[in-house]
Amino acid sequence: MNSPVNATPAAGRQHVFPPPMDRHYPVEGGRIRTRSLEAHIVDHCNLTCAECCSLSPLLPAWSASPEAIAADLRMAVKVLQPRVFKLVGGEPLLHPQLVDVIHAVRDSGIAPVISLTTNGLKLGDMADAFWQAIDALTISRYPRPRLAPDLIAHIEAQAARHAVRLNWKAQNEFSTMTRTAPSTDMAETQRIYRDCWIRERCHLIRDGMFYTCTRPAHFHTLYQGRQDFQSDGLRLRDDPAMLDDMLAYLNREAPLKACLECHGGSAPQAPHRIMKRVEVVALQRHYEEQAAPERILETEVSSA
Ligand code: SF4
Ligand code: SF4
Repeated sequence: MNSPVNATPAAGRQHVFPPPMDRHYPVEGGRIRTRSLEAHIVDHCNLTCAECCSLSPLLPAWSASPEAIAADLRMAVKVLQPRVFKLVGGEPLLHPQLVDVIHAVRDSGIAPVISLTTNGLKLGDMADAFWQAIDALTISRYPRPRLAPDLIAHIEAQAARHAVRLNWKAQNEFSTMTRTAPSTDMAETQRIYRDCWIRERCHLIRDGMFYTCTRPAHFHTLYQGRQDFQSDGLRLRDDPAMLDDMLAYLNREAPLKACLECHGGSAPQAPHRIMKRVEVVALQRHYEEQAAPERILETEVSSA
């Protein structure tokens, strides 16, 4: 069922940055109440934003299957009750079975609201079945490319018609989170992790794992599995110890391996910028070199 219409003006809205900490995980009815849970259902995108938090421009095309999402949620719903479930990417509107994915999330009963985060460029192509299925949209509005006025009018009309809540998010700046080489400063990494608001706002499920933030899964793909970032997460299981394990994981004090690659949610801001293809290729090459076995050995020796 869709939530009530609350279309905000197309001019955008103010966001508090950095957001306040919300590190509080009460257990109600045997499940942990959390702010949100998300699945990144595609890795690819129709834009190449510099500093994309999902590393989308650097990753190969990939789509999650509705069956895999359903399997992960069958276990997650036993211990988690997020206020909202978010479908994110890459650009999630590029998913070939998007409506099936939304139905899989709805059938799981994981959250009362299902929201999708998009750059909006493809919203003019979406069938009514999509608008009927989704509850809410967060639409990131970049300085370039701008959404055309007639597309904005179409989005607002469809949202009103299908009772979809719209959150227009002006995104003129990006946090410069990704390091070009991993940090070797453990004290700084500990501090960044401790103060990072993303670890409580961007919980992710992917491939049978739960992560306190979105980044390990994407570093795992970026480094082509040659470095293990999956161990930053908690494997979803259906057993009585899962609730306590999830609480311990959410409250863990040790930083993630991914934090070595990251400046954290409060990293300095930089103006939004679309990368040219040549820049994307150069960055991909850079991270391929970082993932080379001899380079990994070097890093492990220097941080030992
Ligand atoms: S639109 Fe979003 S997912 Fe796509 S490249 Fe930009 S920040 Fe990344
Ligand atoms: S990797 Fe660490 S520092 Fe980066 S967003 Fe996740 S928790 Fe925060």
